[in-house]
Amino acid sequence: MTRPLLMLDVDGPLAPYVGRPHRRPEGYLTHRLPVRSWQERQRAAGIRRPGPLRVWLHPGHGPALRALPYELVWATTWKEEANQHLAPLLGLPELPYVDWPSMHHGDPDGLHWKTRQLVAWAAGRPFAWVDDEIEPQDTAWIAAHHPAPALTLTVDHRCGLRPADFAALTDWAKENAS
Ligand SMILES: [Mg+2]
Repeated sequence: MTRPLLMLDVDGPLAPYVGRPHRRPEGYLTHRLPVRSWQERQRAAGIRRPGPLRVWLHPGHGPALRALPYELVWATTWKEEANQHLAPLLGLPELPYVDWPSMHHGDPDGLHWKTRQLVAWAAGRPFAWVDDEIEPQDTAWIAAHHPAPALTLTVDHRCGLRPADFAALTDWAKENAS
């Protein structure tokens, strides 16, 4: 049996973010990470000596993800830096990652910039995509253009992945086992 792919976004599902006056969600720990790509963006924005990036991570997420019947894949702008900085803190092994040919571009059909690239990367394999920015047009486009089952799971960026999300992923994998 081939496991479906689990395409994982970071900012939102694994690293929630909230505006003031909201607080860090329960169960998360604060980390300050010297993320090179983020520091480069800070420098480009005129900050001469950027400090580390503050990230909230849930220590239970790594074990919970590893227990899912999926092959995990980073589908995030963090790319290889997800393995470098996040995998050890979450308790995940080094994972394959989508090396986006292009990021944050516009789309003629109003799709998320990841949508077409994820379908191409999956190359016909069943997959679940977990992200905080999925819109109905992305789900519809994937259903029309991906030849295998696909689940799009939109996560609230203020809360990150919750037990109900893990339950939904488990149920979908069971229903679509091949
Ligand atoms: Mg995100």
